[in-house]
Amino acid sequence: MPAAAALLSFPMDWRQYQEAEVKITKLDVFHVNWNPGRSAWVRIWDDQGRWGIGEASPMNGGNASLEILGAFERTLVGADPLDISVLQSRLFHHYIKIGPEGAFAGALAAVDIALWDLKGKILGQPIYKLLGGAWRTQMPFYASIGDMRERSVEQVVSVVEQWLKIEPALVKIRFDPDKTCRDEDIPGDIAKARAVRKLVGEDFPLAFDGNNGYSVQGAIRVGRALEELGYLWFEEPVQHYHTESFHKVATALDIAIAAGEQEYTLQGVKRLIDAGVDIVQPDIVKTGGFTGLLDMAAVARAAGVDFVPHQTQPTIGHMANLHFTASLLHGHYPAEYADMSGQQSVVLKTPLRPNNGKFFLSDRPGLGLEIDEEQLGKRMIPWRA
Ligand code: CA
Repeated sequence: MPAAAALLSFPMDWRQYQEAEVKITKLDVFHVNWNPGRSAWVRIWDDQGRWGIGEASPMNGGNASLEILGAFERTLVGADPLDISVLQSRLFHHYIKIGPEGAFAGALAAVDIALWDLKGKILGQPIYKLLGGAWRTQMPFYASIGDMRERSVEQVVSVVEQWLKIEPALVKIRFDPDKTCRDEDIPGDIAKARAVRKLVGEDFPLAFDGNNGYSVQGAIRVGRALEELGYLWFEEPVQHYHTESFHKVATALDIAIAAGEQEYTLQGVKRLIDAGVDIVQPDIVKTGGFTGLLDMAAVARAAGVDFVPHQTQPTIGHMANLHFTASLLHGHYPAEYADMSGQQSVVLKTPLRPNNGKFFLSDRPGLGLEIDEEQLGKRMIPWRA
C-alpha cells in the first residue's frame, strides 16, 4: 500500500470519547461585572462535581469570546477533560472560520485555562507541577503603568512613585497613544522616559512600551534615546501588523525589541521572531492558554528569543500567568502586573497581592484560586440568561 493511503486510513479513535472515565458535563459561560468593565469567564464541570475556571481576553467585555464559548459547548460536553491538547486542536480546526485570531483565540484560552485548573483538581497538583515543575514559586513582578502619553512629566513621575512602594523588580511605562496617529510627541515621550530614569536611579530595570505609536524613523529616534537611558526593552514601537517595520527597527537598534501581545497563533509569533524581535510576549488569555503558550515558548527557545508573557487581568489571567512563568526555563524577567487596585480580588477568598515585591504560588491544586462564591454570584451575569 502506498504511504499516503496508509496515512489516510489511520482514523481518529472516537471510542476514547465514549469510554472516558471522567467526562465534561457542562459549561457555565458568564460575565463578571466589575462596574465599570467586565470579564469573560467560563467554568467547566465534570461528572464528579469538580470544576475548573478560565478567562478570555476582555476586549469589548469579552462578548465575542462568550458567544464562541457557547458554540464550543457541544464539542466539549461528553469529552474527557484530560484530553486538553486534542480538544484545543479539535475546536481550533472545527471553528477555524470564526478565527483564528482575536476573540476566537480568547475563547480557546478560556477553555484551556479552565481545563488545566480542572486537571490539577483531578490529579491533586498545582498547574506548575503539571507543566513539569517550578523553577521558582516566589515570583517577582514588574509594574506595568499605562496612559503615560496623556500625563504630564510630573504626573508620570508621581504615578511611578506610587508603584515603587510595592517593590516591583522592574517598571514599564506604557504610552497608550491613539493608534491612528504616529509620532505625536517624540520629544515629550523621551522627556518622560528621562524623568523616570532620574527618579529610579541608573541601575533600576526599566522598559518602555510605545503601544504601536511610532513610524519606523520615529521609533529609531526614541529607541536611541532609550539606549542612552539604559532601558531594557522597547515594546511595540510600530503597528503590530507591520512585521517588516519591526525588522527595520530591530535592525537599526541595539535595545531589545519586544512584541507579541497582539499575536494569537503560533505562526504569528514565528513571524515576529523571523522579523528580528528579541522578546516575544503572547498572552495566556488570548493565545490558547497554557497549551498555546507552551508551543510558543518552545518556538522562542529554539530561536534563542526571550519569552516574557503579556498579562493584565488581575485574577484568573494573572494566576495562570504566574503558574506558566514559574515553570518557564530562563524566565528571568518578572511577571507583568498592571492593576494594583485589588478591586477584582473581591471574588477571591485570598486577595492576590504582592508581599515584599513577590507573589507566592501555593501548592493548592489547579490554579489554586479560592473563589468567594457569594461575591462572585453578586457580579455574575450568565451569557444566555
Ligand atoms: Ca504592551
